[in-house]
Amino acid sequence: MSSLQAPRGTFDVLPADAGRRTALEEHARRILGAAGYGRIETPTFEATDLFARGVGEATDIVQKEMYTFDDGGGRSMTLRPEGTAPVCRAYLEHGMHKQPQPVKLWYLSSFFRAEAPQRGRYRQFWQVGAEAIGSAGPETDAELILLLADLLQAVGVRQSRLRLSSLGTAATRREYREELRSFLRAHEDGLSPEVISRIDLNPMRAFDAGDRRTQETMRDAPILLDRLAPEDAEHFAEVRRLLDDAGLVYELDPTLVRGLDYYARTVFEFTSDALGAQSGVGGGGRYDGLIEQLGGPATPGCGWAAGVERMLLAAGEQPAAAELVDLFVAIAPNGSHQTAFKLANDARRAGLRAQLELAGRGLKGQLKHADRLGARYVAIIDDQMRINLKDMEAGDQTEVEPAAVIPTILRGSRVA
Ligand code: AMP
Repeated sequence: MSSLQAPRGTFDVLPADAGRRTALEEHARRILGAAGYGRIETPTFEATDLFARGVGEATDIVQKEMYTFDDGGGRSMTLRPEGTAPVCRAYLEHGMHKQPQPVKLWYLSSFFRAEAPQRGRYRQFWQVGAEAIGSAGPETDAELILLLADLLQAVGVRQSRLRLSSLGTAATRREYREELRSFLRAHEDGLSPEVISRIDLNPMRAFDAGDRRTQETMRDAPILLDRLAPEDAEHFAEVRRLLDDAGLVYELDPTLVRGLDYYARTVFEFTSDALGAQSGVGGGGRYDGLIEQLGGPATPGCGWAAGVERMLLAAGEQPAAAELVDLFVAIAPNGSHQTAFKLANDARRAGLRAQLELAGRGLKGQLKHADRLGARYVAIIDDQMRINLKDMEAGDQTEVEPAAVIPTILRGSRVA
């Protein structure tokens, strides 16, 4: 083995894995496309400032997980750690606020976070994401949640659970944060040092803490859901009614905190009990303040992202359909390579899945290889430029005029 390896926390997608990933992409395209979401692709790196402003200075992502570099011209760039801020940047840059609202976009892209790698957590990973920008209505939130539920079902994610909450508006959160800070300061004895160190910066993260003592203390903490302004409470109630009507099961979790700062009102997360410690499959919420934070007009938005690798892990092993081969072109000793090459090429142009012998095997080895590939027919080019067509299923072999090879296979008929 070479001493060169893929960087820690990254992986190669080999052909054996590609089938399931392609099928997942196809599900996303079908489900999101049918609901009017258009595909978007943004650059792999962006100005660091976009994420500092868009994701939030206090978040783990901005504080310690970004791959940031100088672009050679003194500008600070960052490999995208998430997709919402770039999509909102593109929305503003291309004047999409002038289009009929909401603008619905989806993506399947790779993202980069300098996290400690483990099963289901990588430094480069892929997400499917969907964003609906320009609509504040609760139907948008409910639609997005249902679309993600549909995607998880189509992909075959097992034992999935949906947790749902509302964070209210920025103003409610500010007031609530003060109340929570007072509570945390009054209960420092029962909190981990890490939580104490974050009381000023991000007190909500105390609900996320892993240690038992903090968790017990937080049971008596004030809950944001109880502090929502009436219009936010009504918005949330309507989201829930729509999900109830659609028959989607969820758990209310008033301690649900998303890792990113920009959320307001609805937040949600799908987890899978089929996964280990990294159980989050996908999540998102409403980010009504984000576009303004990026320098645009006040614009509501809502969206989610789901990890491709996590979805596939949670779906378990499912055999991907093998790629079949219609025609394998074999070359007998002293057979014409030129004729073989032309036949394989013509067959592909005619829409057949065709492969040519490329490794210099003997004829016996070629037939074995064709069998391994699952080829329906093998055309053997002999030293007289004749073509013998072998039906691999029936075992028959007959000489066929060169011009008749492709039509014979297209008809799918047995060689007479
Ligand atoms: P987030 O953007 O943090 O809300 O993450 C959304 C989803 O992306 C998660 O539920 C995971 O499925 C996936 N995800 C996030 N971070 C990683 C990572 N480091 N490795 C693999 N998947 C991830």
